[in-house]
Amino acid sequence: MLKSTIAAMTLACAAVGGAQAQGLSQTASALSEKALTDKTAWNVVESLTTEIGPRPVGSPAMERAKDWGLAKLKELGFENVHAEPFTTPAWSRGAESAEVVGPYPQPLHILGLGNSSPTPPGGLTAEIALFPTYRALLAQPPGSLTGKIAVVTEKMTRTQVGSGYGGINPNRTAGPLEAKKRGAVGYLTRSLSTDDTRLPHTGGSAPAGIPAAALSTPDAELLEHMVARGKPVTVRLNMASSSNPAAQAWNVVGEIRGREAPDEVIVIGGHLDSWDPGTGAFDDGAGIAITTAAAKLAGAQPPRRTIRVVMFGSEEQGGSSGAYLAAHKDEVGKMIVTGESDEGPGPIWTLNLPKGSADHPAMGAFLTAIGPLKVIVDRNPSSRGGADIQGLMAAGVPLIDLIPDANRYFDLHHSADDTLDKIDPADLAQSTAVWTAFLYTVANSDIDFRKLAAAAPATPTR
Ligand SMILES: [Zn+2]
Repeated sequence: MLKSTIAAMTLACAAVGGAQAQGLSQTASALSEKALTDKTAWNVVESLTTEIGPRPVGSPAMERAKDWGLAKLKELGFENVHAEPFTTPAWSRGAESAEVVGPYPQPLHILGLGNSSPTPPGGLTAEIALFPTYRALLAQPPGSLTGKIAVVTEKMTRTQVGSGYGGINPNRTAGPLEAKKRGAVGYLTRSLSTDDTRLPHTGGSAPAGIPAAALSTPDAELLEHMVARGKPVTVRLNMASSSNPAAQAWNVVGEIRGREAPDEVIVIGGHLDSWDPGTGAFDDGAGIAITTAAAKLAGAQPPRRTIRVVMFGSEEQGGSSGAYLAAHKDEVGKMIVTGESDEGPGPIWTLNLPKGSADHPAMGAFLTAIGPLKVIVDRNPSSRGGADIQGLMAAGVPLIDLIPDANRYFDLHHSADDTLDKIDPADLAQSTAVWTAFLYTVANSDIDFRKLAAAAPATPTR
């Protein structure tokens, strides 16, 4: 074929692609603008936090949350609304208290960590061994903490991407186990939090067979001041809890069915379960609200492809991701893209597209549509995802990362302060608008992220 003919054909294709992309972009712009004033996302998170509140996996509230999710999706016009049951281990908190017995007796503010063991009846009283960093705890030889309550008081760093949390996460998740290996009979960590209130922040930990709790950040500093005075400090913990090795859980699903390619599915969602102290507004009522509202807005006119919203049923204590993958392993090859909103209400300040897709007209249309929303496009391909979609990601489903500003997230996360009033409706709407534009452009194009990734050159670096 002559070079000029090829060039002419390429031009013709580009013209068709361009016209389609322009149409996609115009509608996506209009929809994302509509999302900025639409109240659906706010109404969803207001309803969930008010009518259900805290909803740990395995609790009666989580069962009510499942019924709430089914009713909400039906009310909003989703199709194929159903719950996919699975079982997963669940830990439940009982009564808890802590105090310094001596030399400066006073109460401490704690929250037990998920999978903590209960204390013996009458409580556990022991001298503390305090470490300013997790690394200092790990440097202790086996047996060196015998009979002690190990305390780690390392501070978490505030960052826009939430990387301070990732960096310090083992202090909570693996700390109890590492303390136990060295002989400790109990474990306390400074809350993985950036706030300065006296509310502790809970979270999951690996089962270690010892009582383990988070101290509020001022209480961690209080113990540091006591230890600095040189006398042995003794603490009493009283902690009750129970565990269910096979609690009933559900992933709650609703779809907007595609009109041309219904078996090509976009899978998005957040998690419906929450920790118990707050009402689960930031974590993750906001994610449920954003993804549900965006799917409804993007699917107001039946899309080409199916948009599926999954309200994952056990993120905090694990289980949703594996259960969802197991139930859908025969379908993953048809999943176009997946994404999870689980870092708060936003605003979304940056995003990473699936590898090799930035120059595709559909992604051009998406990025044009969200121009007014002030989102920085990171040139690196998406890689982050969320805990509930790790299974899908590992199975090769392409990923979209729409990343909210996390500066405030860890002031509230897993604490009694994770409540509705902390959500700025404008931030929630901006996030919904970004998701809406993405869903609309992908659901109404034939973009094939796997093909684009396979054809892409090596990953660009900054
Ligand atoms: Zn979460």
